[in-house]
Amino acid sequence: MHIDIISAVPDLMVSPFSHSIIKRAVESNLVEINLINLRDYATNKQKQIDDYAFGGGAGMVLLIEPIAACIDALKKKRVYDEIIYMSPDGDMLDQKMCNQMSLYKNILILCGHYKGIDERVREHLITKEVSIGNYVLSGGELAAAVMCDAVIRLIPGVLNDETSALYDSYQDNLIAPPVYSRPATFNGWEVPPVLLSGHTAKIEQWRHEQSVERTKNRRPELYHKQP
Ligand code: SAH
Repeated sequence: MHIDIISAVPDLMVSPFSHSIIKRAVESNLVEINLINLRDYATNKQKQIDDYAFGGGAGMVLLIEPIAACIDALKKKRVYDEIIYMSPDGDMLDQKMCNQMSLYKNILILCGHYKGIDERVREHLITKEVSIGNYVLSGGELAAAVMCDAVIRLIPGVLNDETSALYDSYQDNLIAPPVYSRPATFNGWEVPPVLLSGHTAKIEQWRHEQSVERTKNRRPELYHKQP
């Protein structure tokens, strides 16, 4: 998978892609992430990428010209499955959307900043808008990092045990069961004995029951989607 991310502050995304599972995915060439500085596409002498909003009001708006120039240049190099604008009023990111995106070959992501971006970009150059929740961030960078992380870990080969993503919460509309590790007793707090029994079938049964119970209690709306 190839991911291009356009941003006014690309450095904000360096760390999320430089550690742990995502770093390994990049090193194994399972994903290629290209951070693009919008300023490199500024069209005027002052290298300006933002300006005041027409009609007045507080907050700067990212200009259409650098964004259009940047998207144009990138589209000459590859065909994108989606050109996504991170936006608080976009389609809500969920596991189903991440599963779909994990099958894409090329994704282009545009991060807004300040007050947002010129609406004409959204009308004419964007194919999909995604929100990571009903709250407002300072910029789309952290939202893009969240979305990419959730998508990249689903690419086959990224997680060591390929089946492990299948047992995560929200796959099959079930919340993941609790997990424990050593020591078996801490402060007098015990690990459920079945997990120490070595009895695989009983352990699977217990985990399933816990998943169902958790889903009922914590996400009843998912429980009702069970077949
Ligand atoms: N004025 C806008 C918010 C701008 S916030 C409004 O009220 O809707 C600046 C940028 O942060 C946005 O352009 C968007 O790219 C990003 N952003 C903010 N909140 C987000 C969210 N919940 N999900 C995805 N992107 C978000």
